[in-house]
Amino acid sequence: MDHYDVAIVGYGPAGATLAHLLGQCGLKTLVLDRESAHYHLPRAVHFDAEVMRVFQWIGIADAMEPMTAIHPGMRFVDGAGKLLLDWPRPQGEGPQGWRANYRFHQPDLEALLRGRLAERPEVTVRTRCDVFHVEDQGDKVALRFEDMSCGRVERVTAAYVVGCDGARSLIRRYIESGMEDLGFHERWLVVDLILKGEKPELGDHSIQYCRPGRPATYVRTPGKRRRWEITVLPGEDSAEIAKPENVWALVSDWIAPDEAEMERTAVYVFHSLVAEDWRKGRLILAGDACHQTPPFMGQGMCAGTRDVANLYWKLALICKGKVTGAAAERLLDSYESERKPNAREYIATAVRLGGLINTAGTEAALRAALPSADGSARMESIAPPLGEGLGTGETAGRLFGQPRLSDGTRMDDRYPHQFVVVAEAGLAEGLDLPEGVALVTTADSNAAEHLARLGARATVLRPDRHTLGGADTAEELAALFALVLPNPIETQQPELV
Ligand SMILES: Cc1cc2nc3c(=O)[nH]c(=O)nc-3n(C[C@H](O)[C@H](O)[C@H](O)COP(=O)(O)OP(=O)(O)OC[C@H]3O[C@@H](n4cnc5c(N)ncnc54)[C@H](O)[C@@H]3O)c2cc1C
Repeated sequence: MDHYDVAIVGYGPAGATLAHLLGQCGLKTLVLDRESAHYHLPRAVHFDAEVMRVFQWIGIADAMEPMTAIHPGMRFVDGAGKLLLDWPRPQGEGPQGWRANYRFHQPDLEALLRGRLAERPEVTVRTRCDVFHVEDQGDKVALRFEDMSCGRVERVTAAYVVGCDGARSLIRRYIESGMEDLGFHERWLVVDLILKGEKPELGDHSIQYCRPGRPATYVRTPGKRRRWEITVLPGEDSAEIAKPENVWALVSDWIAPDEAEMERTAVYVFHSLVAEDWRKGRLILAGDACHQTPPFMGQGMCAGTRDVANLYWKLALICKGKVTGAAAERLLDSYESERKPNAREYIATAVRLGGLINTAGTEAALRAALPSADGSARMESIAPPLGEGLGTGETAGRLFGQPRLSDGTRMDDRYPHQFVVVAEAGLAEGLDLPEGVALVTTADSNAAEHLARLGARATVLRPDRHTLGGADTAEELAALFALVLPNPIETQQPELV
């Protein structure tokens, strides 16, 4: 029977990204999916800089970028089209080394993720394989699946199984996790159109139409694709409303049938759920399997990418025997304790935003819902820290920026998957670095602006670029060194600068 370090159930964006990351760490990885190909219709249309940074790690960012569209921001308008709130997004390269936001077509990304995975010999992908049974045997997990191309049942074992198997996750059932319900369950009609010609008046902004009668969202996606998401009212029939004639009537304020082709229409029920348990023994969840969000923040897939970025290096350290016993258990426990509050915060914010789109028809209502110090209505991007886990102090668990080194290289390209100390040059002098830890200083990079944002003179970054904490003195930095773990990949001792 074949044995793997990790078996991933589900080859959506979460499973494919995790497979890349584990493959890069040299783990023998199996990916199983019951479908023969990736889902060909659009779902996600937005991802953010943090996600693009993960794509940088796995070597697909440069190929992905030309397939994205620039996203200037979101506007809220009332029923008469009056602007209620502008939420502009910063343009150009931001702290993560990438733009703040990207518009994209999910099938483009999934095709790229899959195409590039073929180049990773450590990863075996089996499509048309339906997993129907897993058994945690204490020292490994036994999986049974049906190869649907020939009806044969096969068995494999793996040290760990990660369920990236979507909203109806089988692995979640084996974990027997309940779901925390954040209270949002609504039907929305999703309409994807492909323009036949130019239609500049639709604009590049996402627009939230806060119409009390029938709230709707418009999103510009790359190329000629355009998306509308429209509330389905109680009592309306999902099948009926998705019929072309009814859809054209619903979008008639913006576009006519002779101006675009209908790529698809579907009624989705958007949920707001977080799994109570993300792990039981050797079974672990990631992506939609452990959280589902309404799409108003465009953060569902982003959250799954954050999950696997948090998880991969922990699994690599354990599978390679670099962290063992009780320390390995604590390391795996930190996955849920760190990720769950972060994922939950995004979902809670999306639920608030959904409520706002549904109820706010006036500037006053928006101002009341989104108050800011100067009294204007304002919407800001959020960046919740990780929950309690591996770091220490107020500045632990923050996503740190990506300094550019003096020669223009992005830090993560120079030191992939490594622990890194980022420090003011003065503080870095004479440092006794732990083995395998890289050093980036304010003298050899633009780290000063990133440290200023964190509010510390130095920090130690984990392979997923979250902070173990901040330090202002050599002693505080030495205390952070005590928390450093081995690197998940083999590295040479870096040259000191
Ligand atoms: C209308 C809409 C708009 C959205 N907009 C955004 C957005 O703008 N930004 C964003 O970040 N997210 C968005 N999302 C969410 C995003 O699409 C999902 O979060 C993302 O696709 C989930 O990825 P995943 O890999 O976790 O799961 P999935 O993509 O659902 O993949 C799960 C895979 O597991 C396989 N599988 C399941 N069970 C088994 C089994 N037993 N055996 C073998 N294989 C199995 C399935 O075949 C599937 O391929 C949107 C979603 C929708 C519906």
